[in-house]
Amino acid sequence: MNHPGTPPTTSVILRSVSAFDDLLESNRAFSETFALGGFDGIAHAGVAIVTCMDSRIDPLAMVGLKAGDAKIFRNPGGRVTPQALEALVMGVHLLNVQRILVVPHTRCAVASNSEEELRARVAESAGVDAAWQTFHVVRDQQASLAEDVHKVQSHPLIPATVEVGGFIYDVDSGLLEPFV
Ligand SMILES: [Zn+2]
Repeated sequence: MNHPGTPPTTSVILRSVSAFDDLLESNRAFSETFALGGFDGIAHAGVAIVTCMDSRIDPLAMVGLKAGDAKIFRNPGGRVTPQALEALVMGVHLLNVQRILVVPHTRCAVASNSEEELRARVAESAGVDAAWQTFHVVRDQQASLAEDVHKVQSHPLIPATVEVGGFIYDVDSGLLEPFV
């Protein structure tokens, strides 16, 4: 990664472009039928979702929404981190969010490995020591979900009129199980 403020060199740009060629080609096709130009960026369905980065999760489709309908915040485990709260506060006050779903999921790496196990797996892949890297693993997924929902509900800048729900997404059935 470049130091902040240091412009990338030409060779980095060229290498990056070729590595992303297939995606950029798809993007040009996407742009041909793009209909969200000039869109205001609010959450049209009034929904925000905090969920995991897991590729098995399609956060909009799983609740019948589409681009433009919801604010989505993702991180490993779908945790309500300080950054997630920033996003939710902005969502509620500036972007029409009235309902918030916190959605961890079954078979999540963050909830099924210990910190030590994740470090060991990453270190093995990286070939260097990873003992310094934190992963914020979840030991008890239901307890963490209850805690996370409470963090949102008790936030001084999130009014009680905002509905907050905790759900566990089953990556094998596609079903959301209401939890909190
Ligand atoms: Zn996950």
